[in-house]
Amino acid sequence: MNSETKNCKNCKKDFTIESDDFSFYEKIGVCVPNMCPCCRAQSRLSFRNERTFYKRPCDKCKKSVVSMYSPNKSFTVYCYDCWFNDNWGGEDFGLDYDYKIPFFEQFDKLWKKVPKVSLIYMRSPGSEYTNISADNKDCYYIIESSNNENSIHSYWIQECRDVIDTSFASKCELTYESDDCYNSYKLLYSKGCHDCTTSYFLADCKGCTDCIGCINLRNKSNYIFNESYSKKDYEEIKKDLNLNTYTGIKNFREKYEEFLIKKPRKFAEIIQIVNSTGSYMKNVKNCKSCFHCYDAEDNKYGVHIWRNAKDTMDCDTAGRNVSLIYNSINAGIDNSNLTCVALCWTCSFVEYSMYCFNSNNCFGCVGLRKKNYCILNKQYGKEEYERIVNNIKNELKEKGEYGSFFSNNLSCFGYNETPANEQFPLSKKEAIERSFKWEDTERGVYNKETKKIEDIPDRIEDIDFEVSNEIYVCADCNKNYKIIVDEFSFYKKLDIPLPRLCPECRHNRRMKSRGPNKLWHRSCMKEGCSNEFETSYSSDRPEIVYCEQCYQNEVV
Ligand SMILES: [Zn+2]
Ligand SMILES: [Zn+2]
Ligand SMILES: [Zn+2]
Ligand SMILES: [Zn+2]
Repeated sequence: MNSETKNCKNCKKDFTIESDDFSFYEKIGVCVPNMCPCCRAQSRLSFRNERTFYKRPCDKCKKSVVSMYSPNKSFTVYCYDCWFNDNWGGEDFGLDYDYKIPFFEQFDKLWKKVPKVSLIYMRSPGSEYTNISADNKDCYYIIESSNNENSIHSYWIQECRDVIDTSFASKCELTYESDDCYNSYKLLYSKGCHDCTTSYFLADCKGCTDCIGCINLRNKSNYIFNESYSKKDYEEIKKDLNLNTYTGIKNFREKYEEFLIKKPRKFAEIIQIVNSTGSYMKNVKNCKSCFHCYDAEDNKYGVHIWRNAKDTMDCDTAGRNVSLIYNSINAGIDNSNLTCVALCWTCSFVEYSMYCFNSNNCFGCVGLRKKNYCILNKQYGKEEYERIVNNIKNELKEKGEYGSFFSNNLSCFGYNETPANEQFPLSKKEAIERSFKWEDTERGVYNKETKKIEDIPDRIEDIDFEVSNEIYVCADCNKNYKIIVDEFSFYKKLDIPLPRLCPECRHNRRMKSRGPNKLWHRSCMKEGCSNEFETSYSSDRPEIVYCEQCYQNEVV
């Protein structure tokens, strides 16, 4: 089939369905989508609350817990221990499928009844304040992360130890306020670096040691602002920069940003890619319009597609051995053949289901563990299962809905609690007009600070009060925040000044530096070069953007 232009039923913009998209839809048997890729992503993301937490009681053991469901929400919410207890199961809420009632109406009824889990994590001792995460040890407030130890306030980190305020990092240790870094040690305030050690403020550097404020360097040491120094001079200048003081960091950050903006950068953050478009990609083949994607093949319109993800389309977070996943969020760990699922781990042949684990052949199910052949949480024999599922699929196909994600109003979360609002910001009015929900519960505490910003010493060495007993105020949003004991020890160990921003503002600053998950067709800005590419730098951005060849000529 040839490519075809369609008009998005939501934003009314034209979008293209390419011939290989049709092949994928045909392979899994779904209807051709009637919304553009952006609107599809926005709708899916409105179902995921990653980091907006509240205190509320567990509806089973009554213990007060941290939860992604605000206390005013009418759902039954269990704490982790109660939810993953064998004394109940999603099957207790099973409904008989009724041929006369539309499927989504029946699903909605089930969805509202089944208890929700306060935060979702697996096999993570000492890490009860982590969400959408697995296999962590002694971690605090880390989200969408696995196999980490002693890490705090971080997002999308894998196999890291002792990192704070870090995002999209793998195999890093003692790393602070960094994004998109790999295999690095004692790396601070850096971005897009591999194999770097004891350095501050680096961007796109590889194999560097003892460097400060540099970009595009390879295997260098004792460099400052891309200039080489003797070991002795380097140490002297470093001392004068006072990078162990808040003022020193603040002043250096400003100078570094002025320096960076004059230096060219590559059109996309990509390494070892074949026939692929997107950014933040490494070791991928045939991945189109993917962002944050690594060790993956044949994926399209994906975000966080990783570690042996194959043949997926329209997914946000799919990885750890998954294949044939369509229009889903958080499909991870040995999954295959999933359509329209939200947070299903180790499942196969599951469709239109949420929060199911180790289950196969389920349709329209919620909160099941180790189940097979279930519809609306009720178990059937194989033949009857297939007959009913065919019936539902026919109903959805007749309406052109088979393959469309759940409608927005089924989400448990306010739009402003989800990453949809980070990628596609909307006002409350706009969100409600588009049938998203909005959460009005006030978050955070204000005006309870016991330490004013100006009363925090410039250097951590000069702190003589019990840091973790104090309440601080964010210099940006005025919200109160605390510094936990392990966080303080980390700052002390690396001689880092106490942060003056709350963890949320620190996270937002890093996320902003990544640019949108969107591509523009542009040409290389190097004079005389006419190479073209797909880049997430829109033409009104101030950065100097080069093609691969011109960028490689800049690298020293
Ligand atoms: Zn659209
Ligand atoms: Zn409980
Ligand atoms: Zn703040
Ligand atoms: Zn060029």
